[in-house]
Amino acid sequence: MSTRSAPVAASIGRSPTVALLDEVQRQKARGVDVVNLSGGEPDFATPDHVVRPAVEALQAGFTHYTASRGILELREAIAGKLHADNGIVADPGTDIIVTPSAKHGMFIALAGVIGPGDEVLVPSPAWVSYAPMITLLGGRAVDVPLDPRDGFTITAEQLSAAVTPRTRAILVNTPNNPTGRMLTAAEADAIAEVAGRHDLAVLADEIYEYIRYDGRPHRSLAAWPGCEGRTLTINGFSKSYAMTGWRLGYVAGPAAVMRDVVKVQEHTVGCAASFVQRGALAALSGESRVAVDEMVASYDARRRLLVGALNKIPGISCADPEGAFYVLPDISRLGFGSAQEFSAWLIERAGVVVTPGSAFGPTAEQHVRLSFAASSDTLTAAVDRLAAALETREVPQ
Ligand code: PMP
Ligand code: GLU
Repeated sequence: MSTRSAPVAASIGRSPTVALLDEVQRQKARGVDVVNLSGGEPDFATPDHVVRPAVEALQAGFTHYTASRGILELREAIAGKLHADNGIVADPGTDIIVTPSAKHGMFIALAGVIGPGDEVLVPSPAWVSYAPMITLLGGRAVDVPLDPRDGFTITAEQLSAAVTPRTRAILVNTPNNPTGRMLTAAEADAIAEVAGRHDLAVLADEIYEYIRYDGRPHRSLAAWPGCEGRTLTINGFSKSYAMTGWRLGYVAGPAAVMRDVVKVQEHTVGCAASFVQRGALAALSGESRVAVDEMVASYDARRRLLVGALNKIPGISCADPEGAFYVLPDISRLGFGSAQEFSAWLIERAGVVVTPGSAFGPTAEQHVRLSFAASSDTLTAAVDRLAAALETREVPQ
């Protein structure tokens, strides 16, 4: 018997962001001098006050399965955080599940609200993994393409136009990867209006919540009038606390749905790693304030550096991101056929790795994503190489 993969698994592509990281590793192993701005990962080490309790937990033999929802102390701390920061009331006993990564949290949250044939509205540009997750669950990701000319603003008209009798949910990410945009009050109202009118669930990916600039307020949809009671909040430790390799996140939502979401966790991974949860508990403590503030201040300085330098290059225009650690400059005036072509040229000619906007949806096809979770020297080197390569480029006729 020959083994073939199932059509659904075969139909999805690799994660473009993860595949690019593999490519960078391959190039580096070959000795190629690459500057990588494709990754969505803090370059800082996890703060020591988070590492210590996790190591101590390991040494003390805290190495067994935990409750599938996660250790109670951590769920209580998450409930406290959600209340204090987000105005969300979540019962640690019934409404919160600690997950091995926000990625898995999003997957099980989706599994809890959609089934075969169900549709999820995904305003785009959107992070690369939402649509494949929906496809794997037998659902259909309905792209709601936002207009770059008005800063990728979400409107009730656009959302409504995409609703069908099969629509079950709207998926929103704020601060946004890759646009750097944050949800405005008008956009939150638009989501609430459409979700309310059609009785849809809302999936709110808030993993970049703490990484925001210029004092902008973060809006949590689970606490927004009209979205309460229908929203599942997905968050995690990777970005805020530089804990990508720890793989820890959580989902918070109404007990009636979380009762089923936890079954998906139970039958897939069981629970998040025990000692990792002890580290996360420390991450949620007041001790993190200074470390998080320092990291965000550093991202802010790098943001200014990168946006300023990119806007000096003729043919590139780059908006200020409001949150997260990505810029999404428009490169249409450079005269390349597509962002894909530009990105391939940039690796080849300058050894600089960026993510083509097409990875995030059709409206970012003339954009590329650069991460500024990299040192100032790395950012400067990348822009210098880019500018030099453009200067010596033969302009196509
Ligand atoms: N959502 C968004 C928008 C992201 O950029 C990421 C980064 N991979 C995730 C979710 C998942 O994060 P993690 O799995 O590391 O918790
Ligand atoms: N979220 C990051 C990114 O968008 C990390 C890679 C991934 O998991 O997609 O680049």
